[in-house]
Amino acid sequence: MIKEAAKYYNLKELWNNLSRHPENRVFIAGGSDLTISLKKGSVKTDCLVDISDIKELSLIEDRKDHIFVGAGVKISEFKKNDLVKKYFPAMLEAIRYFASPSIRNTATLGGNLANSSPSADGVLALVASRAVAVLNYYNQRKNSDIKDIFLGPKKNSLKKDELIEGFLIPKWEHRALFFKSMARKIFGISKAGLCICLNQKNGFIKDISIAVSSVAPVVKRCFETESFLKDKKIDLSVIEFAMGIISDEVSPITDHRSTNDYRREIIKVFLKRALNSIR
Ligand SMILES: Cc1cc2nc3c(=O)[nH]c(=O)nc-3n(C[C@H](O)[C@H](O)[C@H](O)COP(=O)(O)OP(=O)(O)OC[C@H]3O[C@@H](n4cnc5c(N)ncnc54)[C@H](O)[C@@H]3O)c2cc1C
Repeated sequence: MIKEAAKYYNLKELWNNLSRHPENRVFIAGGSDLTISLKKGSVKTDCLVDISDIKELSLIEDRKDHIFVGAGVKISEFKKNDLVKKYFPAMLEAIRYFASPSIRNTATLGGNLANSSPSADGVLALVASRAVAVLNYYNQRKNSDIKDIFLGPKKNSLKKDELIEGFLIPKWEHRALFFKSMARKIFGISKAGLCICLNQKNGFIKDISIAVSSVAPVVKRCFETESFLKDKKIDLSVIEFAMGIISDEVSPITDHRSTNDYRREIIKVFLKRALNSIR
């Protein structure tokens, strides 16, 4: 049962006061996942620490070779931002498929990663964009690959009180393609997802990142498919070959949302659609 709630507005306040709260405290940002876990009883706590208005977590700013995106930026806020439009196009694509307008107005990208769902659309955009997370633990900052944080369904490496402060999105010239299969046309959790960031010159793929969701225990990059496609001009035989490679890079399961056969097949179809669209 929740006995205590606290809200902080900047990191200094948070780190000065956090350890005074009950031991089993948890952070709450938008609450879109946490409130469900509390209701189901899968998370038990006496104390919620509200980080939804911490100013450092709501920044989007230019930092030389990267843009910094605060973990507390609400999903709906991304589409208004010019830096995001220029350097994080995968997120703009992801928003089109992400939950409902009301959820997008509260849900955050940090919560999307901390919740560690293999179907997370925001994480899919981050991984395809080669983002690195900035973690903060009582003012000690470190950068961490997303694969070192997101370890499996509902499993991550975050320590108690460790905060995702934000993400560094590298600046590289690319465009993004995003595909998501869901039970309903809108507002659905992903059965399978694919996000590609790439740039081409004279028809050849110069640089490419491919990430997939809901077809492995974590959202992951498909490095072998990427390296096969790099420096290739797309034709039918290249597409066929790439579909075979990506099929071997995923390890989908059957669950209440879909079957492993469907998931493997739709990832191949998404890749085919993506590559056909850039021929
Ligand atoms: C109806 C519905 C539809 C949805 N549809 C989609 C969808 O289409 N695509 C999709 O990807 N997701 C979807 N979601 C999931 C959800 O909205 C996201 O995972 C959301 O981004 C979580 O962010 P939040 O701010 O609400 O996190 P919260 O619910 O506040 O927190 C989730 C977890 O993350 C921790 N946490 C939050 N922020 C931080 C931080 N900065 N540092 C460390 N830990 C932190 C919390 O302690 C908690 O454990 C849906 C959810 C619902 C209820």
